[in-house]
Amino acid sequence: MDPRTSDLPGEPTSLWLATAPETGYPPLQGEVEVDVAVIGGGLAGIATATLLKEAGQRVAVIEARRVGHGVTGHTTAKLTALHGLAYAQLIARFGEAKARAYADANASGIREARRLVEARGIDCDLATTTAYTYTEDPDEAQAFHDEAAAGATVGLPIELTDDAPLPYPVAAAVRLGEQARFHPLRFLLALAAQLPGDGSHVFEGSRVLEYRHGEPCRVTTSGGTVRARDVIVASHYPIGDKALYAFRMTPHRSYVLGVRPAAGLPEGLEHAMLYGTKPHHSLRTHPTGEGPLLLVGGEGHVTGEGGNTAERYLRLEEWARRRFGALEVVYRWSAQDNRTLDGVPYIGRAAPGMRHLYVATGFGGWGMTHGLVAGLLLRDLIVERPNPWEALYEPRRVNLHGASDLVGMGVRATRHLLFDRLAGQRSWSVPPGQGVVVRDEEDGSVALYRAADGTLTRLSAACTHLGCIVGWNDAEKSWDCPCHGSRFEPGGAVIQGPAVRPLKKLG
Ligand SMILES: Cc1cc2nc3c(=O)[nH]c(=O)nc-3n(C[C@H](O)[C@H](O)[C@H](O)COP(=O)(O)OP(=O)(O)OC[C@H]3O[C@@H](n4cnc5c(N)ncnc54)[C@H](O)[C@@H]3O)c2cc1C
Repeated sequence: MDPRTSDLPGEPTSLWLATAPETGYPPLQGEVEVDVAVIGGGLAGIATATLLKEAGQRVAVIEARRVGHGVTGHTTAKLTALHGLAYAQLIARFGEAKARAYADANASGIREARRLVEARGIDCDLATTTAYTYTEDPDEAQAFHDEAAAGATVGLPIELTDDAPLPYPVAAAVRLGEQARFHPLRFLLALAAQLPGDGSHVFEGSRVLEYRHGEPCRVTTSGGTVRARDVIVASHYPIGDKALYAFRMTPHRSYVLGVRPAAGLPEGLEHAMLYGTKPHHSLRTHPTGEGPLLLVGGEGHVTGEGGNTAERYLRLEEWARRRFGALEVVYRWSAQDNRTLDGVPYIGRAAPGMRHLYVATGFGGWGMTHGLVAGLLLRDLIVERPNPWEALYEPRRVNLHGASDLVGMGVRATRHLLFDRLAGQRSWSVPPGQGVVVRDEEDGSVALYRAADGTLTRLSAACTHLGCIVGWNDAEKSWDCPCHGSRFEPGGAVIQGPAVRPLKKLG
């Protein structure tokens, strides 16, 4: 029998959301004028707005829901320049100079987080830790030697080690000291709290429906308009796609459990953050009032293609028990991040011919340092200071490194756009609390959801972004789009973009 969400372990929220204060910024109403409008109140948006305000700009952050409740509220928040086995690949793809720029940018991201915490007295459990990448697969060992050598080339002291603080054997590992972990939401909310005033604003509950490039640019919600010299799209997957980002990024969803092993934590784990390549898992700890919590991540898949998502939590729990023994699951959550074609984020001027439009996206699971990199780089571009990372992160770049992925992405999107329309059950029954996509002679693909009280909601299953057919996510109770990762509530309201409009209600 399929697992139901009521069978899943732990409270269905993230450690961060469960332990941070609520916010209450007003919605945008009427007309507001600023220097820079920032669409999206996640780490990328808030860090960028903060650094721009420090540089004397008037900013307005316009957030669809609540500040920090997007991916940043569901991360594992490892602040590190050790991104799996990134550097050997970066050197091969981009050459040494750009690989060094990547290392420098991400090391600067950590330094910037430390500076902000210190300068603004932020209480967010920031602590220095060691980051590890490890594998359980002996066939990968050479890649770890290559990564240590690449570290020396890019100026990071990445060391080979056979001493990972784990209770199971690893085949190879590298480590990088002086990295950091923090409570991402307390960090973000403290920065956001210091934004309003002196002509700057934070608006919540204000979904941007469209923006127009011009002099000035105009950003529109259902309640009002922000006029601004420059606009930054920091909405995670860019809304109002002006440069075909939809064909250059794939959203990947993964799952996290906050657990407490009965036998306690293995020695050394409390001061470490680990990223396993094969099998892929992420581990770190965070202090809580009841002792440290171990965050276990894994079970990733392309958004909308995860099959029975509830089962993924159960598999992750099973994996954690096999490795750490009996344990209590305190929280469970999942979220998604976008991967670019060549593995490097898009940060900078968003589209050809639009000099006042900027974007920060495609962090590929490394958006903590990259959120701060976005802040530093976009601030410099906007106040016209030189920045050594501009060419690396150039969003309008064209290169062949991701050509095969581009073809794969095109095939996947075409499959979902064309063939999913013909799929869908013709006969159906929907149990309470579940959704199903069915084929209807008149309405085509229909998303049906039955509420606990038996009420049936009928929606068009066509995503309002580009028309792909959404699928039911049983673990999170949402309609998820397999093409670009838009997500909708059972009743059709947008949870996550790039869609900005709800699924169409059918009679
Ligand atoms: C499970 C998981 C674990 C991760 N762990 C790590 C890690 O350990 N280390 C690391 O470096 N990175 C990690 N990442 C990646 C990192 O969390 C993300 O890259 C980062 O949080 C993205 O920040 P953001 O500001 O771009 O997006 P978000 O935090 O999602 O912010 C975007 C905001 O824009 C808003 N928005 C969207 N559309 C609109 C609109 N139309 N109008 C107004 N507002 C809008 C959203 O509501 C949202 O609040 C992880 C990611 C996942 C999924």
